[in-house]
Amino acid sequence: MKIQTTSQYMDSLKKLSPVIYYKGVRVGDVTTHPATAPHVRAAAMTYALANIEEYENLATATSHLTGNTISRFTHIHQNVEDLIKKVKLLRVLGQKTATCFQRCVGFDGINAVYSVAYEIDKKHGTGYFERFKNWLTRIQDENLMVVGAMTDPKGDRSKKPSEQTDLDQYLRISERRSDGIVIRGAKLHMTGAVNSHEILVMPTTAMDEASRDYSVACALPVDAPGVTMIYGRQANDSRRDLKESIDVGNPSFGSVGGEATIVFNDVFVPWENVFMDGEYDFTGDLVYRFAAHHRANYGACKTGLMDVLTGAVSYLSQIQGAAKGSHVRDKITEMIHLSETLYSSSIACSAEGRPTDSGAFMVDTMLANVCKHNVTRFHFEVARLAVDLAGGFIATLPSEHDLHSEDVGHLVEKYFTGVSGVPVEDRIKIGRLIEAMTGGTAMVESMHGAGSPQAQRVMILREGKLEEKINLARALIGLSSKDEQT
Ligand code: SF4
Ligand code: FE
Repeated sequence: MKIQTTSQYMDSLKKLSPVIYYKGVRVGDVTTHPATAPHVRAAAMTYALANIEEYENLATATSHLTGNTISRFTHIHQNVEDLIKKVKLLRVLGQKTATCFQRCVGFDGINAVYSVAYEIDKKHGTGYFERFKNWLTRIQDENLMVVGAMTDPKGDRSKKPSEQTDLDQYLRISERRSDGIVIRGAKLHMTGAVNSHEILVMPTTAMDEASRDYSVACALPVDAPGVTMIYGRQANDSRRDLKESIDVGNPSFGSVGGEATIVFNDVFVPWENVFMDGEYDFTGDLVYRFAAHHRANYGACKTGLMDVLTGAVSYLSQIQGAAKGSHVRDKITEMIHLSETLYSSSIACSAEGRPTDSGAFMVDTMLANVCKHNVTRFHFEVARLAVDLAGGFIATLPSEHDLHSEDVGHLVEKYFTGVSGVPVEDRIKIGRLIEAMTGGTAMVESMHGAGSPQAQRVMILREGKLEEKINLARALIGLSSKDEQT
């Protein structure tokens, strides 16, 4: 049955039985476990928004496969407008949750596999595209959340997959059977894995002929036999375990997406869910298309977060009586400028989108890499300015227990009051929100999610058309183009 509401999403997760471990203990219900529940609520916003009239146009789309109204998170981009609507949707969700709502990973995986499966069939005469459309139709009809699983452990990084001492360091096909394949290996840092319905496995890098068994794309349920997830720790997660709502910072949605290691211990996948089996010549395209879509997102979701952060420090400045200071206004202006600059690059790479052979639209890959690369600078600068304006207060705040203590509560009240009439609890809460949004795990995700900065620099240079630029300069000083010379 199609999931339409937050509670239906929660119920659908309760019906699954994935094997998830957190701090060495099996997690029962991800919708109620304190370590996972905030992330489930953040992902649930992707369902909730479709039911709010103001956002319906962004959060839903018309399926090109069935003509039905579907969640945009299961849609194949049909034009530039779709790409731009995605950017707008992600910014709104960032504003509403102030964290990662996780569902874009599968969204981008779906779009990347769709266009690549089409091209593999065209070259190799395989039947992946029809299979993929059948699988996707079910995902759309049931409105399922998919985790896009790409990053392999990689073991010794000086060696190729087939050269590793432990061959499982890259996910591979360990057996081919008449009814399907068996996969073995692991995927790391999987955002939203524990609260998704399906896993979309993709190769982690461009492969060569010796790595045919590692050139695999397929889909499977999160609770398929042999799948084990190990949920990662995050900065300050012990505060969540204690359910201290004020000290958590963002108690509803958590400070970052919730990542897991997914282990595939000889997991069977039937042929109808296999979308690449050995076509190493398409692995590079698949990885790159996924990465470009995801890099385009970061100027949208992170802009939503920066909007919240700018609002949080502005409000804190007001309730501390500092809002009129010229340096405060200047720093807030800079935060807004950087946020809008980032958003511009998300919009730009979408506006410059082009169709692939399959008809699915791709963002402009150069501009998408520039977008994500700017996130690794501008988000950090915005966070730096937020911490600068918030002051040391966010690092030394007493706990919620002290605020409510019979012995020292009145002292916390007295010495943490700012502008009179504003409850001290409000000041502490907004300070904690800023702390959570500028702290360890959230900022690491911003740096490395969708690929580390070096990955973008490699692509920026590769796509930078340096020879063309050299010829521009040569032409201006009367020299022929280098191509004509040779
Ligand atoms: Fe979506 Fe942003 Fe989270 Fe990536 S980091 S899954 S783009 S919200
Ligand atoms: Fe991310």
